[in-house]
Amino acid sequence: MDIILFGPPGAGKGTQGALLADHFGLQRLSTGDLLRDAVRQATPLGLEARRFMDVGELVPDQVILGLVREYLGGEGGAGVIFDGFPRTDAQDRALDWAHAEIGRRIDAVLVLDVSDESIVQRMAGRRSCPACGAVYNVHFEPPGIAGRCDRCGSELVSRVDDEEATVRRRLAVYQAQTAPVIDYYRLAGTRLEHVPGDQPVEQVQKALIERLSTASAPTQ
Ligand code: ADP
Ligand code: AMP
Repeated sequence: MDIILFGPPGAGKGTQGALLADHFGLQRLSTGDLLRDAVRQATPLGLEARRFMDVGELVPDQVILGLVREYLGGEGGAGVIFDGFPRTDAQDRALDWAHAEIGRRIDAVLVLDVSDESIVQRMAGRRSCPACGAVYNVHFEPPGIAGRCDRCGSELVSRVDDEEATVRRRLAVYQAQTAPVIDYYRLAGTRLEHVPGDQPVEQVQKALIERLSTASAPTQ
């Protein structure tokens, strides 16, 4: 089962992707996490990507597609949850081609709907663990000890691109370049499920699991 977890930045894709991956035994592929790893390691790809990430723009398609091809070549046995990919029309087409080569397909696109104002508020409170990737929120999902990761004890950090002006730029980029990806899958007849993301984490998770557990007939 390969699925796309779709939605604006801050909708809860990383949070829900991790929970769903555990629940269904799937791999989670977050292009944002792969890019942040490359930035931390200061690889040539990371240095190139950072120029775009810090100002809330999309990283060029060729860079992203190189990363995803590399990943799909080595992983994906039980199925993949794509988080933050595809984000452009070139990326959705390239994923189809890569999938066709390995005899897989997207079984469902789950769209998390969240209002812009909730997103700005969430991003201001987001804290991430640079070591293990766990995500918290000082308002909604605080760690047990302030500033420390519950899982590995590392010091939590704020993302530079979570500053309000950059978040608003990312939301505009989402509307212009990423939201149309939904139409690509609608036209292809892929199962498309909208889930209200403006509710507590557990309720969103329950709704997602219910949608994924029901009959797999394509819906619009
Ligand atoms: P994305 O991966 O879509 O950018 P995240 O999963 O990182 O989003 O979530 C963004 C922020 O919002 C994080 O701080 C996270 O803890 C918090 N968050 C996620 N889901 C919810 C929710 N249902 N209600 C409130 N806060 C949430
Ligand atoms: P995310 O962690 O998904 O919010 O992504 C953080 C940033 O990484 C985005 O604002 C983009 O600059 C970049 N990025 C992540 N995934 C992609 C993608 N599929 N295409 C282009 N840029 C991406």
